[in-house]
Amino acid sequence: MTRRLLPTTVVGSYPKPKWLNHLIGEYAKGKISDEIMEQAYQDSIKAVVKEHELAGVDILWDGEMRREEMTSYFAEHIDGFEIYGDVRVWGNNYYKKPAIVSRVGYRDELTIPEYSSLRTITTNEIKVPITGAYTIVDWSFNEFYPRKEDAVYALAEVINEDLRGLVKAGAGYIQIDDPAIPTHPDEIEIAKNSLEIATKGINAYLGIHICYGDYSKIYPEVLEFPVDQLDFELANKNFKDIEIFKEYEFTKDIGFGCLDVHTRRIESVEEIKTNIRKAFQLVEPEKIYVDPDCGLKLLPQGIAFEKLRNMCQAARELREELV
Ligand SMILES: [Zn+2]
Repeated sequence: MTRRLLPTTVVGSYPKPKWLNHLIGEYAKGKISDEIMEQAYQDSIKAVVKEHELAGVDILWDGEMRREEMTSYFAEHIDGFEIYGDVRVWGNNYYKKPAIVSRVGYRDELTIPEYSSLRTITTNEIKVPITGAYTIVDWSFNEFYPRKEDAVYALAEVINEDLRGLVKAGAGYIQIDDPAIPTHPDEIEIAKNSLEIATKGINAYLGIHICYGDYSKIYPEVLEFPVDQLDFELANKNFKDIEIFKEYEFTKDIGFGCLDVHTRRIESVEEIKTNIRKAFQLVEPEKIYVDPDCGLKLLPQGIAFEKLRNMCQAARELREELV
């Protein structure tokens, strides 16, 4: 597929509107019907998509309004998982940790309803993110499979089944979110095998998003992954990781994380342009995708929007300079 130069896109979750968080709380208490909750999700997605279009994002997703968390959301829809109570991860943040308690199997469609619903409200290109099998297993308890890799490979088959349906539904760009990979570099072979299984027969443009890890531990091995694009968080570490990637020829497209999502500071258009230019040290402009480091969900919505808008303006200006 031919795209415009330096296409802009999003990663992870966008801040949920306050009213949606309120309704999710009320729904959990049984005070709101399924019908109203569903309408709220649909309306919030329309609002987020409109906001991203206004910011100028080329390749859209729905802000993950329906996803509470990137592991349990999927585990809840896959056979073989049970969700345990809240586990503290950092600071005062908790997440519902899933456990594999029996053989995993494909039950519900995972990404297909989200994709099909989004397709009806935007004409832009869509990128569909799904959490990778390696990360889901790494962030879950495994109480069934003798070895971790058995669980990872079984889950990769489930993901493959969903991706097949997703491509049939029309999706052309899929991103596997696998941030756990750098935390166990000794298991990179397992991660790679899981990606081979998950992407087998999938005729789409494929990316992998890996954030907040020590990339020196997984590079150049990640170049062997069966994907078209490697998407990295770079702004948070002030683009120092580029030096790591320069040691070997960067043979994939790059998703160039150029907004630090951990600061409320709004990067200026000029600053972002300067930073995107750093990607030219690695690959031709045709191989660069411009995006934030990760999800903007912990930022106030107005700041998230302004960051995105500046990022898209920076990409537009650079694009004009390049042609
Ligand atoms: Zn991320």
